[in-house]
Amino acid sequence: RAKRDGRSIFRYYSEDLTRAANTRLALESRLRRALDEGGFRMHYQPLVCLRTGRILGAEALVRLAVTNGPPVGPGEFIPVMEDNGMIVELGRWVQREVCRQGKAWLDAGYQFDLLAVNLSPEEVRRGGVVEQLRDVLAETGFPPERFEIEITESGLMQRGEDAVEFMHQLKSLGIRLAIDDFGTGYSSLSYLKRFPVNKLKIDRSFIMALPQDQSDAQLTTTIIELARNLGLRVLAEGVETAEQQRFLAARGCDVYQGYLCSPPVPPERFEQAFLASPRAAATG
Ligand code: C2E
Ligand code: MG
Ligand code: MG
Ligand code: MG
Repeated sequence: RAKRDGRSIFRYYSEDLTRAANTRLALESRLRRALDEGGFRMHYQPLVCLRTGRILGAEALVRLAVTNGPPVGPGEFIPVMEDNGMIVELGRWVQREVCRQGKAWLDAGYQFDLLAVNLSPEEVRRGGVVEQLRDVLAETGFPPERFEIEITESGLMQRGEDAVEFMHQLKSLGIRLAIDDFGTGYSSLSYLKRFPVNKLKIDRSFIMALPQDQSDAQLTTTIIELARNLGLRVLAEGVETAEQQRFLAARGCDVYQGYLCSPPVPPERFEQAFLASPRAAATG
């Protein structure tokens, strides 16, 4: 009897595995198709100046389009694409699409300071990013000084000893660099001084419980001071309340991003709601 139970447990377990593998295969072929047939979309989340309230630009965040349904977020497919290597092709598409869109906005007379794009640790590890970005910038004509790359601390650790050199190569393209999800990784503070970065993005997990949580309040304040002492810009992610916004502004944080202003939105919506109206530009 025990034996039979054991066998049936094994049978169920293995059916689960088969089902999981099938689901995974289905997802992978869906992602393959999306890459081939233009099934991905970029959404744009405004970056807001904490001093003036001005919209400085946006972080571009990828989505998988779904017919007659809400798009699928990156948490569902980026890990799979990092695993099977498709992330390289996705990254190339993301960079090209954001530069194309940004150039179109500039040509239409819209003004903004920057568009930011994420680079996954796996893209960093696989290499070729610097050459790829150089090509995309040249091809699209998007001004590099308005382009920001976000890399996490774990992304930088992929390059080990080579991380500083890698960042300098990126910087030599004339773009800006931000450390994403700052505070969640293990980067040593002495490294920070050697990295040619422009900005620290404080992870949402530290912002969530502000201003009540004493240790998060202390940590956030410390990161803001650290950034200012190093001459870096500092942005807070995931700001949802006016209280959080006031807390951050009072401590000298430069920029915020979060639902308080807007979630990530499709490009048409971003253009309409957040980009300054074009100058009467048609005149030339
Ligand atoms: P991230 O770069 O830290 O992006 C910020 C995430 O926080 C976004 O989730 C954004 O929608 C979410 N968020 C912003 N404000 C708020 C808020 O006020 N409340 C809450 N609850 N959430 C907020 P999303 O779009 O799901 O992206 C998740 C992660 O996926 C990103 O984290 C980034 O690591 C990765 N990712 C997104 N797009 C790309 C991409 O094009 N390429 C790569 N390699 N990774 C990407
Ligand atoms: Mg980011
Ligand atoms: Mg982030
Ligand atoms: Mg984050």
